[in-house]
Amino acid sequence: MSTVKEQLIQNLAPEEKLPRCKITVVGAGNVGMACAISILLKGLADELALVDADGDKLRGEALDLLHGSLFLSTPKIVFGKDYNVSANSKLVIITAGARMVAGESRLELLQRNVAVMKAIIPSIVQNSPDCKILMVTNPVDILTYVAWKISGFPVCRVIGSGCNLDSARFRYLIGEKLGVNPTSCHGWVLGEHGDSSVPIWSGVNVAGVTLKSLNPAIGTDTDKEQWKNIHKQVVEGGYEVLKLKGYTSWAIGLSVTDLSRSILKNLKRVHPVTTLVKGFHGIKEEVFLSLPCVLAQSGINDIVKVNLTTEEEALFKKSADILWNLQKDLQL
Ligand code: NAD
Repeated sequence: MSTVKEQLIQNLAPEEKLPRCKITVVGAGNVGMACAISILLKGLADELALVDADGDKLRGEALDLLHGSLFLSTPKIVFGKDYNVSANSKLVIITAGARMVAGESRLELLQRNVAVMKAIIPSIVQNSPDCKILMVTNPVDILTYVAWKISGFPVCRVIGSGCNLDSARFRYLIGEKLGVNPTSCHGWVLGEHGDSSVPIWSGVNVAGVTLKSLNPAIGTDTDKEQWKNIHKQVVEGGYEVLKLKGYTSWAIGLSVTDLSRSILKNLKRVHPVTTLVKGFHGIKEEVFLSLPCVLAQSGINDIVKVNLTTEEEALFKKSADILWNLQKDLQL
């Protein structure tokens, strides 16, 4: 007696063995799931894999997505605690890790997340030896360095989400002040993702008109309009959201998806992301910070050599020193 499927379906072609554009998200927490839904809604992948150490949470999140299959154009969503579900990924996004607990220092959080990376990265590499790794877990700049070291990948294939979110917040806030859509407000935040990030006021422009040419004091204490507060809001923005809702998710999910699109579609768009900055702006150590990078199929295809003012370069250097002080004592 043949089954309903056998009676209904006459197979002609064998199923393709390898996915063409598979993305894995490691960490099915708030950030991982925001990345996942945003990637699904953009239809970026033909296969999405989710990996997490917490099997129940992972299964719950994956089933919830799978129940929405009717409304998606990604035909395959797989999940598991074992990294074999991530095999043959083009891009692996890492959002897994510990969150800061009360009374914990940044260095202690860093050590805990270094331990997580030591557990995760060899399995990613084993299952997808040609993938690009996109680090999101904090502290993202140092963990991008850690992922680069542990993976043994060329530097172009290990990218940190870095200041892509900081720059998005910067452009949104400039847009609000000018009454112009953020896509038309061009401005870059470089250096460390977070506290010591560097706003590049010298380059902020709308339609090629630099705001500094209209207000030479922009970004300084003497500026009557206090544009400087915009960068302060960029730095404090993440903490504010954290305080209000307990975590941040939507903006980082959208920003990671935008980076993923540039990589997977070989767009060669320029984004402020974390990369090895040794040799740039007087940095001598193996520090990872955000600079404008051309993202393409190969990962980071090129780095744009930005002209920084003396003050901006000094701040960038300070950002590097802060990170190097944390990084140099790491046990890898
Ligand atoms: P979360 O606690 O909601 O999720 C973390 C997930 O990681 C959990 O589901 C947990 O089970 C999983 N996990 C922990 N250890 C693991 C391991 N060894 N293997 C597999 N999975 C493991 O946290 P969240 O709010 O999603 O934040 C995740 C990270 O993203 C944090 O480090 C956060 O600071 C960072 N973040 C970065 C940015 C950025 O701009 N780079 C923005 C927001 C958040």
